Amino acid sequence: MRYEVVVVGGGPTGLLLANELALAGVSAVVLEKLVERPGQSRALNLQPRSARILDLRGMLQPVRKRAIDELPAGHFAGIELDYTPWGECQLGIPQARVEEYLEDRLAERGVPVRRGRTVTAVEPGPDGVLVRTGAPAGPSTGAATSGGADAGPAGSGGPAGSGVRRPSAGDDEQFRCRYLVACDGGRSTVRGLLGLPFPGRDARVSAVVADVTLNGPQDAAGSPWRLPRFDRPDGTVAELLPLPDGVHRAVVAGPEQQALPREAPVTLDELRRALPSVATIRWASRFTDASRQLERYRHGRVLFAGDAAHIHSPTGGQGLNLGLQDAFNLGWKLAAALRGNATVLDTYQAERHPVAARVLASTRAQGVLLVPDPDVVALRELVTELIALPAANRQLAGFVSGLELRYELPGRHPLLGRALPGLDPALLHAGRAVVLETGRTPRYGGIAVPGAGWDADAVLVRPDGRVGWVDDGYEPLAAGLARWT
Ligand SMILES: Cc1cc2nc3c(=O)[nH]c(=O)nc-3n(C[C@H](O)[C@H](O)[C@H](O)COP(=O)(O)OP(=O)(O)OC[C@H]3O[C@@H](n4cnc5c(N)ncnc54)[C@H](O)[C@@H]3O)c2cc1C
Repeated sequence: MRYEVVVVGGGPTGLLLANELALAGVSAVVLEKLVERPGQSRALNLQPRSARILDLRGMLQPVRKRAIDELPAGHFAGIELDYTPWGECQLGIPQARVEEYLEDRLAERGVPVRRGRTVTAVEPGPDGVLVRTGAPAGPSTGAATSGGADAGPAGSGGPAGSGVRRPSAGDDEQFRCRYLVACDGGRSTVRGLLGLPFPGRDARVSAVVADVTLNGPQDAAGSPWRLPRFDRPDGTVAELLPLPDGVHRAVVAGPEQQALPREAPVTLDELRRALPSVATIRWASRFTDASRQLERYRHGRVLFAGDAAHIHSPTGGQGLNLGLQDAFNLGWKLAAALRGNATVLDTYQAERHPVAARVLASTRAQGVLLVPDPDVVALRELVTELIALPAANRQLAGFVSGLELRYELPGRHPLLGRALPGLDPALLHAGRAVVLETGRTPRYGGIAVPGAGWDADAVLVRPDGRVGWVDDGYEPLAAGLARWT
């Protein structure tokens, strides 16, 4: 079977990428090893930047309907960040609901998500890539254990059969494509098949995540979604966060978790030692703070996005969000490359690698603030005081929410690389770049937005909402169009 792009992995990154490719008219297929959607959620939030990119495609309102709650706040190592200076909220929404929505959209667009297809071989050539699927060599990995912040193979529970690999006659298939994008999670098969190093550091902290029901009065059940608070003086974590349907998210990281091997099953007794009210486990997994990033996201015709390109501790709630934003940066660029733009794909590495590198550094810093040591407690108190200062809060909230992000683009105009302020999201629903002109009589045949208040007569807005060219005499519009379309 031939496609222009094969996307390996039907997690949030791969599913959004495939939506973007479909919007741009690219023929694509998603190959996903799990036979069924796991229905379990590691991530529970969409940061404001992710909400904005969904808005640019008309997907925010339906996703918002699936959210549990909205909070004008985030956190840094459990220290609350106030998002109100940015005028934005993050959505509390289980990862599974985001994935379900994105996969349903693909079905509407007629993009195949081939489940039960485990990619086992990748052969890149000068003009394309040959991809083979087959039965996995070892036992199946359960849904509770796949990818994500290096989540370990210690899952337990989960709906019967979820994630169970059922080999079928169609397993051994070949796919040919012009480009392959590996969105296959923290333990990326594609990365392994290409023999790529994944530099960084090993785990220092191990933790358990579980969705549980509780015994006795369930004070917090049904109460609004809230942020975790890692403020135990001994540095251990034993959190219960309310989720819908009487379920709670348990997160535990104490001395016992550090001593247990990654493969050890998560038991009720282990959870109850930290959280005595736990009654039953719906699913559970171990995860760590391992921190790694590919040096290059592009290897010829193979590209990497999401956890396949970078893993880090989930503290701060940015991993899924980074993956969505990788996909949103890459989809339209792949479409332009397929139409003959020879340079646009290089900007994917230039723009997205530094963003993840900064998140990795920030999560390592957050990890330090959670170390159980009296001196660290003193440092944490100091950082808490600093974050209470409006300027510090704004800076950190802008970073964690993704709202302050600006890509380094050629030229000096301050709008370049920024999300255009006040942009009507509907202008980008078609996923195509637009030229906007502030004058009443457009000079470039763009869309007139008189009185828009930007310090420029005309701007080129890329499909991802970033300003890619400004009419400031630096270069003609034709150069901007050649670069981005
Ligand atoms: C405990 C925990 C809590 C977290 N909380 C948050 C949070 O609050 N906020 C946040 O933003 N992030 C959070 N994260 C991180 C987030 O879950 C991940 O960053 C996100 O799932 C990455 O998405 P992805 O699509 O890149 O990879 P994945 O979600 O891992 O998806 C990869 C997909 O590829 C498939 N696959 C793998 N190998 C193959 C193969 N060979 N062939 C075919 N398919 C394959 C897998 O089955 C999977 O479906 C958390 C992570 C953990 C562990």
